[in-house]
Amino acid sequence: MCYRVECKQCKEYSRGGCGEHLATLYASIDKGKHCMCKSWPGVVVPTEETATEQTPSGGVSTSATTTTGISRFLH
Ligand SMILES: [Zn+2]
Ligand SMILES: [Zn+2]
Repeated sequence: MCYRVECKQCKEYSRGGCGEHLATLYASIDKGKHCMCKSWPGVVVPTEETATEQTPSGGVSTSATTTTGISRFLH
């Protein structure tokens, strides 16, 4: 059976043991407490919302370009 160990690098919970119960171990650790220094084979790690909100600066110019294209199309 696998067990949690404290990672010396990030102070979060890493894993020890046979490595065949990582899904159960991962689920037993609180969200945000998982060590990501090593991968968790067989565990579907949920994607955090970090990369989603990166559009404010680029979105304005894109919409302006789209508006120009539409008006040209109508004329
Ligand atoms: Zn195990
Ligand atoms: Zn770590």
